[in-house]
Amino acid sequence: MLVSKIREQFPILGRTVAGKPLVYLDNTATSQTPRRVVDAIVDMYTRHKANVHRGVHTLSQEATDLQELTRRRVARYINAESHEEIIFTRGTTEGINLVASSFGSLLPEGGEIILTVMEHHADIVPWQLLAQRRGLKIKVVDIDDSGALRLDSYRALFGPDTVMAAFTHVSNVLGTVNPVREMTAYAHEQGVPVLVDGAQAVPHMRVDVRDLGVDFYAFSSHKMYGPAGIGVLYGRREFLDSMPPYQGGGEMIKHVSFDGTTYADLPFKFEAGTPDFVDIAALGAALDFMEETGIEAIAAHERQLLEQATAGLMEIPGMHIYGTTPGKEAVISFNVEGIHNYDLGMLLDKQGVAVRTGHHCAQPLMERLGIPGTVRAGFAAYNTPEEVDAFLTALRRAVDILRP
Ligand code: PMP
Repeated sequence: MLVSKIREQFPILGRTVAGKPLVYLDNTATSQTPRRVVDAIVDMYTRHKANVHRGVHTLSQEATDLQELTRRRVARYINAESHEEIIFTRGTTEGINLVASSFGSLLPEGGEIILTVMEHHADIVPWQLLAQRRGLKIKVVDIDDSGALRLDSYRALFGPDTVMAAFTHVSNVLGTVNPVREMTAYAHEQGVPVLVDGAQAVPHMRVDVRDLGVDFYAFSSHKMYGPAGIGVLYGRREFLDSMPPYQGGGEMIKHVSFDGTTYADLPFKFEAGTPDFVDIAALGAALDFMEETGIEAIAAHERQLLEQATAGLMEIPGMHIYGTTPGKEAVISFNVEGIHNYDLGMLLDKQGVAVRTGHHCAQPLMERLGIPGTVRAGFAAYNTPEEVDAFLTALRRAVDILRP
């Protein structure tokens, strides 16, 4: 994998911040976008824009074809059985809300939902809202000191009242990769359906929903080199078929009458209103980028950067890294003793280095770790060893300035 050839495709990487070349390491929050994705958006607006599905005219059919082509490509990319199991959403958050709201309405009162302490708020709050509405209970799987899920605690939480398990594939803070296949198989043995938050997995590893055996899998386009504002919910047909619509409106109906309304077939039953067909079409160009580069090559490259960065960070006195499981994803969360994460982030920014600071929408995990927040650096296909060096140099400088 030639990183220089990849970098050429990302115009934003050429800009400066604070007079220094940008070193963009906030990839866990959102990745940057290659030119071909931007071109695909421009192409939609300048050549094909028309509302999808309702038109007989050429433009409408072109826009529909482009949107539906992406649906088929996404299905193939994650090895779904059918493109009808691919629902376009606004992102991971909406995908999980859809399941919690619609599938959740079918769950029996008094049931228990198993979550983990490493969940992003997007995989906590929708379940809490459901729990409040329908009298369900939430149980939480703990982690060990390395940041691995306690699988013994996971298994022990299942009981006769368990009705749902929802967990992240990869932690956006610890980088921990959870054993989704094993966890899902265990849940299924107990007759419990599984939702997986794949926001941090799809950009970094091969995801095969049928191999994993999951029932629902949600992810976001903007973290996988695609446009912001859209995402994907994969759901097994048998579940999606049994679920009531999430929102009502156009596109999701078969026939509307004041005597009663019938709903469209999958996937449209869950896509009320005009979808973001421009960005959906452009997501296809992001898949082009990922397929051309190769997800295995991206993963291997990111792993090298992770090792280099981890080794460099460990040399800094007072360094504490959160999440040290073997095979973790290329994201590092850390603190330096006596220094606030926010101050480090500010001083890194002054040197052109973009990292994220704070609780990373994982406040229960922060509470579990006993900290208010961390500095987080995450790597993508376009990052280089030189950038890791620049980050480490900038960090050492920041620590020297801030060390009490
Ligand atoms: N889950 C995880 C693990 C995430 O990292 C994120 C994004 N930070 C989300 C869910 C939410 O994604 P989005 O904001 O794109 O809906």
